[in-house]
Amino acid sequence: MSTMSDLNEFSKTTPKLETVDAESIPAGVEPGSGSSKLKFKESTSRKKSIPKGLWTKCGKCAELIFDKDLDENLKTCPSCGFHFPISARLRLDSLVDEKTFKELDAEMTSVDVLEFTGVESYSSKLEKYKGKTGESDAVITGLCKMGEHKVALGIMDFSFLGGSMGSVVGEKLTRMIEIGTKNKIPVIIISTSGGARMYEGMFSLMQMAKTCGALAYHSEANLPYISVLTHPTTAGVMASYASVGDLIVAEPGAMIGFAGPRVIKDTTQAELPPGFQTAEFLMDRGMIDAIIPRNEMRNSLINYLDYMSANVSQPKVKRAVKKRVS
Ligand SMILES: [Zn+2]
Repeated sequence: MSTMSDLNEFSKTTPKLETVDAESIPAGVEPGSGSSKLKFKESTSRKKSIPKGLWTKCGKCAELIFDKDLDENLKTCPSCGFHFPISARLRLDSLVDEKTFKELDAEMTSVDVLEFTGVESYSSKLEKYKGKTGESDAVITGLCKMGEHKVALGIMDFSFLGGSMGSVVGEKLTRMIEIGTKNKIPVIIISTSGGARMYEGMFSLMQMAKTCGALAYHSEANLPYISVLTHPTTAGVMASYASVGDLIVAEPGAMIGFAGPRVIKDTTQAELPPGFQTAEFLMDRGMIDAIIPRNEMRNSLINYLDYMSANVSQPKVKRAVKKRVS
């Protein structure tokens, strides 16, 4: 369903390729001319002559973007604001004060407890994704500074097995939240996930309760937790820690939901409303608190922390933490 509408979007906007500045076209490529049909052919041939790894075509407005500009713009389209996927490390750099991030449990790695086999074994998949992403699993956690605030921060990476939550993602986040509680600092988790990691069966599902349990202690200590939802945040992650933030913000256009639209449509036998499961749809219905573009995220989070930390009453924090320790 969504794939079809994406395709329609794409074919409608493809002629916008003609709006590319002459300067932005690599040498040796002539600008298109003549009928729209000819122009389309021209843009196809132009696409072939674009050196790989130098330009990216926007999936929404079809604008050609110089990769350097795309990186400088935090992987968002300078023309239409479309948010491309971004790695956890790049996102980390865009959010925290320079050289303040102290990573936790960087080496923690999953074990194939169930000895899961399918087309490919879970162990070989883990090795493949470790090599591909350079990460040990689908989340980075650590302590950092953002403006005046010390923060316990977790950032998920969709490129590692679809950002799925297995025992390592759950354990790293839980430890990070507990350190946040102990140090009386706010927690921020940036989510992107296809849900629980089914290669780990029950071990992945129990992470939902575990992370939420840790967040409950953090909340009892009267400490703020901000959940940031990015494209896509779904299933077991959305049904646990991603949806229990004191403040829940999302990136524009992010798909947010539990089951996918096709499953819901088949189950309910009803037409889904336009924009179903987008950040904007949820914002209109009061499910999230704000939509923040990526390049405003750091400043907005700092502003929220200023506001939320001002309301932390010191005695309650001490009492709750004491209770937790005993
Ligand atoms: Zn665009």
